[in-house]
Amino acid sequence: MKIQGVLLALLITGCTPSTEVVQGSSSTAAINAEAPYMWGNKTFPKNIGLSNAFSSDEKVGMVQMGDAWKNAVSASNAFFSFSDLNNNNYDLVRNDGVLGIYKVYDWNSSLTPSNEVAPIAITQLFGRRYNTGKSNEYVSIEHADILVNYDDFNFSSESNSANKDSTEYDLRTVVLHEMGHFLGLSHIPVYSLRPSSETITSRTDYKASSVMYPSIDFSEIKRIPKTKDIQQINSKYSTSSTVASAMVAESPYKPQPNDLGKNVKVIIELRPNGECTHKMDGVTIGHHTIQLKK
Ligand SMILES: [Zn+2]
Repeated sequence: MKIQGVLLALLITGCTPSTEVVQGSSSTAAINAEAPYMWGNKTFPKNIGLSNAFSSDEKVGMVQMGDAWKNAVSASNAFFSFSDLNNNNYDLVRNDGVLGIYKVYDWNSSLTPSNEVAPIAITQLFGRRYNTGKSNEYVSIEHADILVNYDDFNFSSESNSANKDSTEYDLRTVVLHEMGHFLGLSHIPVYSLRPSSETITSRTDYKASSVMYPSIDFSEIKRIPKTKDIQQINSKYSTSSTVASAMVAESPYKPQPNDLGKNVKVIIELRPNGECTHKMDGVTIGHHTIQLKK
């Protein structure tokens, strides 16, 4: 299925609001970069396969982070269940039917723009965009995978983060963030672009106020979703019942009659260095540097 060139404009919300340059498209309808992402299939939990490349300690940490999302919303709600995957075979091109978290030792160059630092991890989402150009535009997620970059970075699976080496990222922190993307959560704005309504006046405190900040440092440990993250979840999913259910197919998020949707493939990156890149179908469609305080 040829997708490239069909869609234009920025898909990922979060890193930056509006100044992205769009390349190589003759599409007519401009998409709304702020349109929400959410799972169209209302069946939860989503079963995620944990690659057999991960150690048992690493798997324990990832399962804990799945529980952290559940516990943040309601003890009875489960977004994720987990099983062991007998391989480490991810598919960067298509929906392979297996939701997975993979340990990547050989980071694909297509996932890193030239002359840039590779991301710590990515979530790739496959889905369909509906109601393009309308107020109820949204992307219905159909598939997702999380890829953790063990090629360029080191990660700690220590339960006690005090035991973490200073040159390792906390695996739980990284995976919790990516699971947020998996559910359709976007990044919060970087500190320099925070909304005027924001009351936090310290960059450190602001970063700590959400697990969906677009970059992390070695020292950051964020293993519990914060109020902002829970608010974002609640904007997408009904979590009051015993089983989480997506709002898709309920007003206003249902396709207009005859709207067949447009294919979407998106990669969302967690950056180590304050940079943020937006890609679509392997093509970088926007990039900017997040201002880091030295
Ligand atoms: Zn991210």
